[in-house]
Amino acid sequence: MSTPPWMVSLHGGHSGQFCDHAVGSLEEVLEAAVAAGFTTFGISEHAPRLGTQYLYDKEIELGWDVAHLEKLFDDYATTSAELVEAFADRLTVLRGFEAEAVPTDRYKELMLGYRERYGFEFMIGSVHHVDDISIDGPMHQFQQAMEGRGGLEPLAIAYYEAVIAMIEALQPEVVGHLDLIRKNGVHVGPVDTPAIREVAVAALEVVRDHGCVLDLNTAGYRKGLKTPYPAPWIIQRATDMGIGFCFGDDSHGPEQVGAGMEASRRYLLEQGVTHISAPSRQDGGLVWHKVPLADAP
Ligand SMILES: [Zn+2]
Ligand SMILES: [Zn+2]
Repeated sequence: MSTPPWMVSLHGGHSGQFCDHAVGSLEEVLEAAVAAGFTTFGISEHAPRLGTQYLYDKEIELGWDVAHLEKLFDDYATTSAELVEAFADRLTVLRGFEAEAVPTDRYKELMLGYRERYGFEFMIGSVHHVDDISIDGPMHQFQQAMEGRGGLEPLAIAYYEAVIAMIEALQPEVVGHLDLIRKNGVHVGPVDTPAIREVAVAALEVVRDHGCVLDLNTAGYRKGLKTPYPAPWIIQRATDMGIGFCFGDDSHGPEQVGAGMEASRRYLLEQGVTHISAPSRQDGGLVWHKVPLADAP
């Protein structure tokens, strides 16, 4: 059975080797990608968060500090380059990373510096924090972020504003899980009020103007949401604006490799999206293609 052309994931490949909340080694993740039938698979480990205030509870439990996060990322850069070579005859491994938008005053130089120093082929630009508080973590932190902003709606607006600033600062190839605010937000109230939609659309305009692609992130299913990221209304608006999508399984271990890809393909087709953007490596750089989502006749 040949691999359908849409079957490319760019955001994912986190592993327990370099990330506290993932499992397995990177090699095991790539073996899983081969077993799942991928011929091109992107990996994008988390960049370090340079500040003790950003350490996750689990990281603290493990005795990790910021220097350790930097060391792990450095190891990731080396190991991933070795695995690109080791898998070359079976799998085209695209080597990237998931950028963070903290600390606010210096993430731009930090993230662009990682890209340059380690020669990554692509960057997933993600916002996981508002006002230095994780909006992706446990609900008590999300509540704290809401209290700081005076409610869900102002927090969601601040989140999309941070996304806009991140895109302008980093110009990533891919914008990660654009409506991540939905993950915790849906348990509190509506995350698509007119005021929130207005700033989300402003974010889409910046996505378009910088030629970024949106991460069609299948982790939404794993997080108990009805759809992947982003939500249907964003898919439709983005499509009207000519913005493309690429799949991200956001895998955090071998078992999650390729998870939700087929359901996400059907989700996009239901929204009237006919093509997905898939990159390939050509002459040392990434070239993007539009490939059909429908089954070949
Ligand atoms: Zn993660
Ligand atoms: Zn993320």
